[in-house]
Amino acid sequence: MPSSPVLFLATIAADGTTSFAPADPGAPQLRVDDLGATRGDGVFESVNVVGAVPQSLTHHLARFARSAAMLDLPAPDAAAWTDAVHRAVAAHEPGDELLAKLVLTRGVEGSGVPTGWVHVFPGYDYGTQRTAGIDVLVLDRAYPSDVVTRAPWLLQGAKTLSYALNQAALRYARGHGAHDVVFVSADGDVLEGPNSTVLAKFADRWVTTPPELGLLDGTTQGRAFAWARARGERTEVAHLTVDDLRTADALWLLSSGRLSAPVRSLEGVPRPTDAGLQAELLQHLLTVHE
Ligand code: PLP
Repeated sequence: MPSSPVLFLATIAADGTTSFAPADPGAPQLRVDDLGATRGDGVFESVNVVGAVPQSLTHHLARFARSAAMLDLPAPDAAAWTDAVHRAVAAHEPGDELLAKLVLTRGVEGSGVPTGWVHVFPGYDYGTQRTAGIDVLVLDRAYPSDVVTRAPWLLQGAKTLSYALNQAALRYARGHGAHDVVFVSADGDVLEGPNSTVLAKFADRWVTTPPELGLLDGTTQGRAFAWARARGERTEVAHLTVDDLRTADALWLLSSGRLSAPVRSLEGVPRPTDAGLQAELLQHLLTVHE
């Protein structure tokens, strides 16, 4: 029997004060003229919940606030959202891994009142990706690496509801026999996946790519770096090229739901993975919450 999702709906006052109340996740809740639905005008976060503990919630809420600010949405009331996540998780039947989705939209067109909710449901099954690894294509995002300063209206680096492009890239990958994608900028900088952060290991150096390129500051990557540093290894935020990815000792895509997926082929070319390291990293991501 699949467990039932849990929904908490926000009431957001003009001064931003927010309260949440439980609602029926199986009943219609969103108006057809909500700008989140009609224009993808809103922001979201997906928080992994392991053993009833929402992982990196503070980091997720900081990113939620940053995304909202980039869209000129009112600042989310962090205390109210934190409380709502905990209440929604507590109201869900226990599960090894749940996902808590936080959504804030510009609201019904013309109302000036944002819409928000927290939805908790069983996480997707990433078991095979975690153990067998993934095949990854490199796709051109076709934006320059200075897109953030050159064209801030493109909202690169905000986690907006406009994920149709990200979904299209994933469909392209699946249509070409791969699981996932790494984007590169027009000038050859490795960026991120459509819903993941790139992590590469070169000897004892762990590297991810700079958020300044218009990337999300990954919560999973933050925890992976803390783990690597605790092992006495170096961590670095640095520019990478596709050639660098080819020569990395090991390569992963990281994200809240899947945690860590080793990249076993890049552009159809098999590449090394490190099963022992993946097991240790995954174990850390599954057990250490902040
Ligand atoms: N980059 C993008 C574009 C994403 O959508 C995500 C995940 O949602 C990430 C990176 C990884 O972030 P996190 O590890 O916080 O889930």
